[in-house]
Amino acid sequence: MITIKSKSEIEKMRVASKITGDALKLVEKHIRPGVSTAELDKIAYDFIKKQGATPSFLHYEGFPASICASPNSWVVHGIPSNDVILKEGDIISIDMGACKDGYHGDAARTYPVGKISDEAQKLIDVTKQSFFEGIKHATHGAKLGDVSAAIQEYVEKNGFSVVRDLVGHGIGKNMHEDPNVPNYGHKGRGLKLAAGMTIAVEPMVNVGKYGVVVLDDDWTVETEDGSLSAHYENTILITKSACEILTL
Ligand code: MG
Repeated sequence: MITIKSKSEIEKMRVASKITGDALKLVEKHIRPGVSTAELDKIAYDFIKKQGATPSFLHYEGFPASICASPNSWVVHGIPSNDVILKEGDIISIDMGACKDGYHGDAARTYPVGKISDEAQKLIDVTKQSFFEGIKHATHGAKLGDVSAAIQEYVEKNGFSVVRDLVGHGIGKNMHEDPNVPNYGHKGRGLKLAAGMTIAVEPMVNVGKYGVVVLDDDWTVETEDGSLSAHYENTILITKSACEILTL
């Protein structure tokens, strides 16, 4: 079921989303060669709790941490670990959510670790920009396919591919609500967007082919061909004239 949020619900979404965005900014400050993804997880957990919120990912369907930390060819859902230590030249995708007063925010970024290759930097930039290309179309009365197609077109024009098996989603009282928000599709197709919808738009982009596999831990998603992958996500609110990004 797709929900249109009331004014008071939107206010709660704003609060939860701001905590999420601020937690990401704090984690970003600690990204450097030598840091473990478990340390980054602890930083996010402590910050979110200090805001009187709850990490949305912790215990979600059994997930054991507050952030997903997915370096290099890991696409999403990497489990933070003392054994995953970032090194110069890595890229690291961090995805997290916060819940406050019963409403969730959800956002992700991919960061460079020290000096990275030109290709890795291009991947990060294209992934981020594809989000912004997509949300240009995320307005009241537009079709969801307009958003999806714009993301896909921008990514593929730049020589990369969009992951098909994982998609964005509606968000609100639940972290994952209807509708699905794919990063591929056709203009003019799909659901009609309406003011008051809140959705998480989250392109996942691979340097190589779009296929992915799930590792033996039943969580970590990795590119099938071992190529690098990046992720960029924000929770957005559809408004009459445009959309508003809540998790920046
Ligand atoms: Mg999400």
